[in-house]
Amino acid sequence: MKKILILNFLISMVMLSCRSDSKNPKSDLASSDTAGTTMDTIKQKPADNQAVLARREVPVLCYHQIRNNIASDSKRAHDDIIAPDKFKAHIKMLADSGYHTISPDELYNYLVYNSKLPAKPIMISFDDTDEDQFTIGNSTLKKYGFKGVYFIMTVSIGRKGRINYMTKEQIKQLADEGNTIASHTYDHKNFAQFTDEDWTKQIDEPTKKLGEITGKKIEYFAYPYGVYKASTLHKLKEHGFKAAFILSTARDENYPLYTIRRIIDPGRYTAKNLYYSINKSFNKTKK
Ligand SMILES: [Zn+2]
Repeated sequence: MKKILILNFLISMVMLSCRSDSKNPKSDLASSDTAGTTMDTIKQKPADNQAVLARREVPVLCYHQIRNNIASDSKRAHDDIIAPDKFKAHIKMLADSGYHTISPDELYNYLVYNSKLPAKPIMISFDDTDEDQFTIGNSTLKKYGFKGVYFIMTVSIGRKGRINYMTKEQIKQLADEGNTIASHTYDHKNFAQFTDEDWTKQIDEPTKKLGEITGKKIEYFAYPYGVYKASTLHKLKEHGFKAAFILSTARDENYPLYTIRRIIDPGRYTAKNLYYSINKSFNKTKK
């Protein structure tokens, strides 16, 4: 009898403590910013660097100018220029091959919380604000229900000239349609050469401007020229970024979220070349 009483007492104590425990995470949730994150991911512990590096890499593509070459284009510029017909054929190939585009948020939640991704995930990104990314890029992606990521260099917004750049209204429309607007500095200054003032001019001010245009949080960054400096990577987190993107060089083992790899789809590639290049560069796990 005594034993049963003690047992009952113990059970009720355990239940009480469970109840009070379950209250705490709830109040934490209410006070923290949980937009775009599911309950499941919040309960999980974030992955450490080793776990992030061990995940299967998701292919990320990078585009610049979608236009036909002209005689004055330098040979080096050719990598950054893809003809509209080719671009359309390459995006069609991705759709026909069963790829599904994902957002940086989805990629982040997969890397950090192992959230589920659609079959054959891919991220399609555009750098430097060129207007053809809106007129040709966005309209082509929409045909297949794809979404893109636009890394904006804010100095160019609304500029017209030899190259036309996107207007504020076009950037807002992209964001409203579910694409991600992200930062690519103010005027394409090399991240490795940032001074203290550049953290305001090249980082905080563009973030603020893009946030005002889109009404959304700006949380992703792409390094101009794909170039970064390991010693200042920690500052991106302090300045509000969840992840950042390089080109096809090696990831930094201490900052894998801030050195996510992308490959350029150069104008010389056929759709088949692109398909093989995606499989060669990604779809690997780190041993
Ligand atoms: Zn760029």
